[in-house]
Amino acid sequence: MSGDQKSALMNTYARADIGFERGEGCYLWDTEGRRYLDFFAGIAVNSLGHSHPHLVKTVQEQAAKLWHVTNVFQIPEGERLAQRLTADSFADVVFFTNSGVEAMEGMIKLARRYHFAKGNPEKWRIVTVEGAFHGRSLATIAAANNPKYVEGFGPAVDGFDNVPFGNMNALRDAITPETAAILIEPIQGEGGIRPADTEYMRALRTAADEFGLLLILDEVQAGNGRTGKMWAHEWSGIKPDAIATAKGLGGGFPIGAILATDEAASGMAPGLHGTTFGGNPMAMAVGNAVLDILLADGFMDQVQAMGALLKDKLEALVAAHPTVFTEVRGSGLMMGIKCNADEGVTNVEMMTRLRDAGLLTVGAGANVLRLLPPLIIEEHHIDEAIAILESVAANWKGEANGA
Ligand SMILES: *Cc1c(COP(=O)(O)O)cnc(C)c1O
Repeated sequence: MSGDQKSALMNTYARADIGFERGEGCYLWDTEGRRYLDFFAGIAVNSLGHSHPHLVKTVQEQAAKLWHVTNVFQIPEGERLAQRLTADSFADVVFFTNSGVEAMEGMIKLARRYHFAKGNPEKWRIVTVEGAFHGRSLATIAAANNPKYVEGFGPAVDGFDNVPFGNMNALRDAITPETAAILIEPIQGEGGIRPADTEYMRALRTAADEFGLLLILDEVQAGNGRTGKMWAHEWSGIKPDAIATAKGLGGGFPIGAILATDEAASGMAPGLHGTTFGGNPMAMAVGNAVLDILLADGFMDQVQAMGALLKDKLEALVAAHPTVFTEVRGSGLMMGIKCNADEGVTNVEMMTRLRDAGLLTVGAGANVLRLLPPLIIEEHHIDEAIAILESVAANWKGEANGA
């Protein structure tokens, strides 16, 4: 927004005073022609960076062929994308959506309907954890139970029992004969890059099996190769009953999906759930093009290698600047560094200074700064990011160290 004219956009975002004109690979250029290294990636959405030639070509070709028909007809590109998403995963079937929250809503409905169809309509509640973020719909704000997002929006949607993260006793205590499912992000994103470790994930699977519940995961942010495996839960070796995903799957084109086992989806039948735009030929063509890259030989190895390198360098950075940063967390290219609140370092101020120095990063809960680069980054991008982080941390001293 420039000049004195009032913005006609609804007042829901405190937007930075910066607009981007174009992007290429891991870089963005603003309207003044300034270049930024993009470790924001539209909040883990631009998985292949900007203007990836394969995506540009796919969009151009599909745009000239067919955009939309609705799910009343066969959509071959969607059949193909679903086949590819289920081929190497726990899942048997896919429902395509337009966004993360739409996938989350559908997955919540799927879990409730599963028990209804089994003759247990009393099982409809879902155990969730503190610090979660599942989207902005009425049901998903109730599920995550963040007071900031719930207040003023009427009585919270019923059916969610929110327990402390990582506490199996509290979680097991919350399970009643009305419980249908356990819902968790394998790594909390908005909550501050907080991973559910392998032991916790296994304990959740065991509890779900013991009580006949579905284990449903929110992989909207952590999925699609972000952690160096196609799905973040794969690191723990457990198999969920369903996952919701979105962000990285379309590389910037709005796509979401519910992946489920045949069993978890057994309550669904024609007419019970739907979407007008979800799974349209445009979106499906782009999803397939993203998978062409993500599933290529060696791609995930490269993400893992770059993730390990980034982590090493961040750990060295944090060790060198303990008054500015206190901790590195995360997996693959879903990394977070915690800013030192005791020294008055806030992630918001850090983000601003990094941006002024040419590096885009994302804030998160718990005073954590998220680093979510495109999955195509190379070592020189990491070196460039670390150099900017180093210089901003070194120049913080005057205020943070009181030196
Ligand atoms: C972003 C996000 C959502 C919501 O996705 P939208 O596409 O913004 O609706 C849900 N869950 C998690 C973990 C997310 O990161």
